[in-house]
Amino acid sequence: MTTKLRAIHGDITSLNVDAIVNAANSSLLGGGGVDGAIHRAAGPELRQECQRLQGCNTGEARITGGYRLPAKHVIHTVGPVWNGGADREAELLASCYRESLRLAVSAGLRSIAFPCISTGIYGFPAEPAARIAVQTVQEFVASAPELEEVVFCCFSDEDLRLYQHALGEQIVRG
Ligand code: ADP
Repeated sequence: MTTKLRAIHGDITSLNVDAIVNAANSSLLGGGGVDGAIHRAAGPELRQECQRLQGCNTGEARITGGYRLPAKHVIHTVGPVWNGGADREAELLASCYRESLRLAVSAGLRSIAFPCISTGIYGFPAEPAARIAVQTVQEFVASAPELEEVVFCCFSDEDLRLYQHALGEQIVRG
C-alpha cells in the first residue's frame, strides 16, 4: 500500500492520529508555540515523562505517550534555529522529519501528523521548510509502506498553500 500524504489547516492537538509531532526545544520541558499547546492539552503527565528523557539534540526525536490528547503518542523533535542557512539548518530539519518517522515505524504506528517544524519562533523560512518537509517524507515513505498516513498540519492559510504546492495538489476554490 502507498502512504497517503495530505496537508490540512488545523490545530495539531485536536488530531486523532497514532502520533503527533512536537516542535520541541532541546530541554523537552515545554515552551511556546505548538510545544506549549501540546503540553497544555496533554496535561502534566506529559511533562513528567519528558523530564525522565533528559533532553534531545537538534535533529533527533523521542517518543512519549499522548496522555489527555486524542493522539496516542507524541514524538518530540528539536528543529534547528534559523541562523542564515549556512549552519546545516536544512540538513537538520530533514533529520527531524526522518527521525520522527523512524520512531513511528519502530513503534508500529500507522498515522502521524507534523506541524511546520522550526518555522515559528525558530525562524526557518516557511517556503524552503515546506519543500524539505514534503521531500523528506516522500523519500522516507517510499520504503515504509506500513505507514498509512502522514498529515502536514498547517496553522496558517499561507503554510497550507505552500504545502499544497509542494505536494503538487490542485488548489480547488469553490
Ligand atoms: P519552532 O520553535 O520549531 O519554530 P513554533 O511552535 O514556534 O516552533 O512554530 C512551529 C509551527 O507550529 C508554526 O508554523 C506555528 O504557527 C505552528 N503552530 C503553533 N501552534 C500550533 C498548533 N496548535 N497546531 C499546529 N501548529 C501550530
